Amino acid sequence: MGEYEAPLESIKDTLRLVGIDELCELPAFAHCDGDAVDTVLSEFARFAGEVVVPTNRTGDRQGAMLDPNTGNVATADGFQDAYARYVSMQWGGITFPPEFGGGGLPTVLGVAVHEILASANLAFSLTSVLTHGAINLLLRCATERQCRLFLPRLVTGEWTATMNLTEPQAGSDVGAVRTRARRRPDDRWEITGTKIFITWGEHDLTDNIVHLVLARTPDAPLGTAGLSLFLVPKFSVSEDGTIGPRNSVRCQSIEDKLGIHGSPTCALEFDHAVGELVGEENRGMAAMFTMMNAARLLIGLEGVAVSELAFQRARDFARERVQGHASDGGRTPGDVTIMKHPDVRRMLMEMASTIAAMRLLVYSTAAAADRATHTIDTTLRSHFLRRVDLLTPIAKAWCSDQGVALTSLAIQVFGGSGYIEDTGVAQYWRDSRIAPIYEGTNGIQAIDFAVRKVGRDGGAAMYEFIEELERAVAPMSQHPEVHDASSGVESGLATLRTATDWVVETLARAPDDVLAGASRFLDLAGAVVGGCLISEKALMAIEIRSQPCADEAVGQANFFAVEHLGGAAGMLRSLTSGSERLRTIDPDEVVIS
Ligand SMILES: Cc1cc2nc3c(=O)[nH]c(=O)nc-3n(C[C@H](O)[C@H](O)[C@H](O)COP(=O)(O)OP(=O)(O)OC[C@H]3O[C@@H](n4cnc5c(N)ncnc54)[C@H](O)[C@@H]3O)c2cc1C
Repeated sequence: MGEYEAPLESIKDTLRLVGIDELCELPAFAHCDGDAVDTVLSEFARFAGEVVVPTNRTGDRQGAMLDPNTGNVATADGFQDAYARYVSMQWGGITFPPEFGGGGLPTVLGVAVHEILASANLAFSLTSVLTHGAINLLLRCATERQCRLFLPRLVTGEWTATMNLTEPQAGSDVGAVRTRARRRPDDRWEITGTKIFITWGEHDLTDNIVHLVLARTPDAPLGTAGLSLFLVPKFSVSEDGTIGPRNSVRCQSIEDKLGIHGSPTCALEFDHAVGELVGEENRGMAAMFTMMNAARLLIGLEGVAVSELAFQRARDFARERVQGHASDGGRTPGDVTIMKHPDVRRMLMEMASTIAAMRLLVYSTAAAADRATHTIDTTLRSHFLRRVDLLTPIAKAWCSDQGVALTSLAIQVFGGSGYIEDTGVAQYWRDSRIAPIYEGTNGIQAIDFAVRKVGRDGGAAMYEFIEELERAVAPMSQHPEVHDASSGVESGLATLRTATDWVVETLARAPDDVLAGASRFLDLAGAVVGGCLISEKALMAIEIRSQPCADEAVGQANFFAVEHLGGAAGMLRSLTSGSERLRTIDPDEVVIS
């Protein structure tokens, strides 16, 4: 076995379940059909296996190197060649509009392709996460001229993009950004300030880098309401598209960090760099959200991708590692592989079932995004838009947290060898650890979910979704083979409804209590939604009766429900416990009587 083999059957099953066939019937995707989907996936899996997988370990070991004299950054061996081939095969643009050189395929298919890329090399895949986010932003907010000048080369991947929010004093609190923008006589702008932690902020893969930068214009209001968005290219671009002189943006340092070593995380100094406004002045945060929401889904997908890679390695190791005797009273003679030990199989089952649930959650969100844009009925479009809004923070936070837990479990399956860098499994856990932090920490996602996505409409979007899930899983009660899954999702959905009632009712009265329980609320939602989706998959497998697919789906749904939904009542207790119980952790707040 190699390090990674794209799980094409699971990916195709998931695509079918989230409705790729119906999506292909929409006029926007008339050129896409089942054969095209199969071809894209198998060709990309081949490309990733042959070209990208070999760069994963090298990137981790070598990292990126900054030349302090020039500010240039050299990527690890093999990255330039892999990226050049990615561009020449036009993989980056498959989901973007044909008028800018894209393939016009459904977003959900792009998500499937991106899963394979992120499993192959997570650090490498981040160039596309940011570039795709920037393309989405420009499509929505840029002028016709800006689209014409910048989109075609971002779509092909000839240029990459970055997202510049963070500054030393402005992390989760984006409103604290201090980078300044001043209008020049030619109507362009001069950008001055320091951005930190900028992913792929400088590198040697492309001729140009398009920085999207949040900055403050003179007399702008305080906070996020005073932020504007600027496009600042590393090299200026003239009206005919040719590249001109270098702009005054420079990489000052790259971070020495826990994981994703192949991805240069840069401090960028903008010193009167020339940029142009994107969208309206003081509307930069709204524009940046377009980029962040697309990116957040892909960060959730990182949890799926890195867990899949870790699972494959752990499963193969368990099939080979001989240790101990079978627990069958001596019927199996001699030593056995650790796969024969029930506790090891439990760990692998935990991985396999959670990966299936996560994949369904992320792909359903992407399919809803496709429907929100391309479904003909406009009422339905707003329904799907609400669904994407609701699911994006759950997909980002729940899947990225599971990614950390499951890659840690893979180390456990390997035993001591997992903790040793030589086996490579430790890298997956180190790489996974960033996903709960960037693109808005999972704590911020949980607040967004509880306060905005659930709270803003009095829970309407959430109740609508719960009812839909209840209808979808109801037929399970007629199938005794999914009894555990059926009772698990039934009680999980009831608990989620009670939790939603509590959040909606408590938000106005005691907002701090909701904030104290927000992460548990999101965990509960992730587990329940994941449990329902994996149960629907089992149900469909039973109805089609395709063995061994049905056995696997049924086994995973039952296992997941027992392991993840059995504790739903405990989660409810935690999420409704309020903020008063946290008082003693902050000595400043303890009242000494
Ligand atoms: C490898 C890497 C790559 C990155 N790439 C980029 C990039 O490309 N572009 C970019 O702009 N940024 C990037 N970042 C920055 C990243 O988005 C921030 O680190 C992240 O948003 C958190 O900000 P912070 O580090 O300042 O933490 P802080 O905001 O200081 O948060 C610290 C802790 O406090 C919690 N917290 C903060 N505020 C609140 C609140 N109001 N309510 C509840 N809890 C709160 C957080 O959840 C967290 O647990 C990257 C970071 C890293 C490490």
